[in-house]
Amino acid sequence: MILKGELTHHGILREEAGYFIIRQSMPYPLAENNVFLTESSEGWSVIDIGVDLPRTREVWEKALQEIGISFRHINQIYITHCHPDHLGAARWLQQMAEAPVFMLEEEIRRANDFMFFTADFAESYRKAIETECRRQSFSDALVDELIRSWRDDVTPLFPRPELMVPLVGGQTIDLRGEKFEIIPTPVHADGQFLLWNEKLNHLFIADFIAANSYIHFSDWPHTRRSNLLSSLFEDIERLLSFGEPRVFPGHGESFNDLPRRLQVLRQRHLRRLDKVRQLVRSEVTVGELYPQLYELVDYVHLDRIAAGETLGYLEYLDYMGELQKSDQGDRVTFRR
Ligand SMILES: [Zn+2]
Repeated sequence: MILKGELTHHGILREEAGYFIIRQSMPYPLAENNVFLTESSEGWSVIDIGVDLPRTREVWEKALQEIGISFRHINQIYITHCHPDHLGAARWLQQMAEAPVFMLEEEIRRANDFMFFTADFAESYRKAIETECRRQSFSDALVDELIRSWRDDVTPLFPRPELMVPLVGGQTIDLRGEKFEIIPTPVHADGQFLLWNEKLNHLFIADFIAANSYIHFSDWPHTRRSNLLSSLFEDIERLLSFGEPRVFPGHGESFNDLPRRLQVLRQRHLRRLDKVRQLVRSEVTVGELYPQLYELVDYVHLDRIAAGETLGYLEYLDYMGELQKSDQGDRVTFRR
């Protein structure tokens, strides 16, 4: 198909290897993310949407025009994980297309626990995160700021879709007439999944790794999982066994050098682990340690991500027998 039109002209819409890739913009440091559209055996399928802002909706409308289909051609909406740049305008797209929104079962549960509250938002959200934040010595002032920011800045960008249909790992879905396996990778978001087709050698890698920047492995405190760094290392091993697929990331251009990028990612975390080893002299909490590990700016989400990764490093060292975790219920510490 030869695409022409404004979006194509500006590189916002392109066709690659049988997929339409739409570059959406967003008000975060990553600035933009990829969403995908392809014809399947049962109508058209969408992978991820973009934050729910007027510009995103406008880009979707124009993209469908340039491709030459209507919203009613979309029969499946797959969301790789419940973050604003991925789920985003799913509620709106679901209404326009009258199509189900699919997410991993675990991610639907997590979204209901931490993101989609029906009662008073601030109170429900505080209840969901406060205990864990206290346990890790995350300051009360930051908890208050997180509640404010989550309510005012973040949740408006991804309203809850009316209908979310659960997917399970190992299940296959059809994209462009080929079967793609759903591979859960519980880092970055507990219920994130990748899509893999061995025959085509195509991998949709969501936010496991980005083409152009580092992506955090923890979504703390919005997680029910522990020892996430260990999960990350296991997933890296598994993905190394895929050889050299063509990779379509959630952020940045598609790439072919996955093994090299995975090695770089692993090295980065091994170096940080060394730093954690040096910094833990006697006993430490996550809240005490993370400001020493990360260069922070005045942005609460950076604090929570840094705290989450720090918890991941400490739990990994506990798991490896190098540190000892002590959980006193209201306070978690790690010591030599
Ligand atoms: Zn993302």
